[in-house]
Amino acid sequence: MNSNEIEIHKELKKYFGFSQFKGLQEQVITSILSQTNTFVIMPTGGGKSLCYQLPALIQDGTAIVVSPLIALMKNQVDAIRSLSSENGIAHVLNSSLTKTEIAQVKKDITSGLTKLLYVAPESLTKEEYVAFLQSVPISFVAIDEAHCISEWGHDFRPEYRNLKNIIKQLGQVPIIGLTATATPKVQEDILKNLDMSDANTFKASFNRPNLYYEVRTKTKNIESDIIRFIKQHKGKSGIIYCLSRKKVEAIAEVLQVNGISAVPYHAGLDAKTRAKHQDMFLMEDVDVVVATIAFGMGIDKPDVRFVIHHDIPKSLESYYQETGRAGRDGGEGHCLAYYSYKDVEKLEKFMSGKPVAEQEIGFALLQEVVAYAETSMSRRKFLLHYFGEEFDSETGEGADMDDNVRNPKTKVEAKDQAVK
Ligand code: ADP
Ligand code: MG
Repeated sequence: MNSNEIEIHKELKKYFGFSQFKGLQEQVITSILSQTNTFVIMPTGGGKSLCYQLPALIQDGTAIVVSPLIALMKNQVDAIRSLSSENGIAHVLNSSLTKTEIAQVKKDITSGLTKLLYVAPESLTKEEYVAFLQSVPISFVAIDEAHCISEWGHDFRPEYRNLKNIIKQLGQVPIIGLTATATPKVQEDILKNLDMSDANTFKASFNRPNLYYEVRTKTKNIESDIIRFIKQHKGKSGIIYCLSRKKVEAIAEVLQVNGISAVPYHAGLDAKTRAKHQDMFLMEDVDVVVATIAFGMGIDKPDVRFVIHHDIPKSLESYYQETGRAGRDGGEGHCLAYYSYKDVEKLEKFMSGKPVAEQEIGFALLQEVVAYAETSMSRRKFLLHYFGEEFDSETGEGADMDDNVRNPKTKVEAKDQAVK
């Protein structure tokens, strides 16, 4: 170990209490400390925050962290403050602050106390803030959830498109982009929009060897099929995703009637009910949550044993994120998707009201889901290939963990299914 490495290990222990870096963290941090543009692609839970938090804490100046969600920013600021005796070490700058609060933030930054300043992208468009940030030393700008910059991502935010222009006004500061979106198209977009084709890029593997992938043809017996599946996993935690709120309610009820402890979760329920159902799931008062995609952001339950898609998702990206909530503890995680072409047509119909450019992207993403559902090759290989990652379906980790590999379809069966 050279003195630099010893130094950052010591700082890791000092601030975060960890004795080891996770995955590529150390390489990423070394890159950031060398004042180089850096691009980090790691799955959710990979430990991206620490990649910019640690260098921010040990460098001079303030690091600006751009993040799309106020709730996420607040969480991170609270977490950083708990590591220090100084409240001013981290701040959020947004439109909800009072004049006095803004004055305090500015004072802490100017005095060098603030190491991390979290901002929403729209706050950065305020001239007053930009003028202030031009007048203080900035160590780097980290752009979290950088896929928001791309229309090919699952969470496009137009304000992200303007970030590069604003950062330019701050002078020569390194940019760190971070995302859990692994598709090559989105990555290209990020590098292009942030004008950092020169960035050091670090990409972790997206393989989840403990997850078992299965696709079943959706028939009118789907409800009894799901009930049978859950009864085979008695007492285990699981999530069932449905496309519509109505379906969520209906399935939750069917499960309850059949003696399965399940609660619904969707954006149509009031906040109190939603919070209650989420807590019941986390505390294991119920086994199953039936939910729309509104459920799951930031849910960290380590022992979710199955994720069922009653309806196909709108992209493989979302499928990966949603199934990724299973088996966080490294134990079993069964990912079962029901597929029917009728659902594809339904999704296409939903999209037909949208602007043409959005529709085209939507259709293209959906076609990939169809190809995944209909493939007879290793599903893991298919998914990872979609994320630009090569996977050896004979020797790779988790190679036998899908239906196609365990029970290869004969050509005739595969064709039959396609016709259906
Ligand atoms: P991401 O943003 O990539 O989804 P987070 O930054 O939220 O991931 O980190 C996920 C979890 O990993 C957090 O609970 C964090 O405390 C933990 N973590 C990060 N780095 C380390 C480390 N070096 N050792 C142990 N745990 C870590
Ligand atoms: Mg994160």
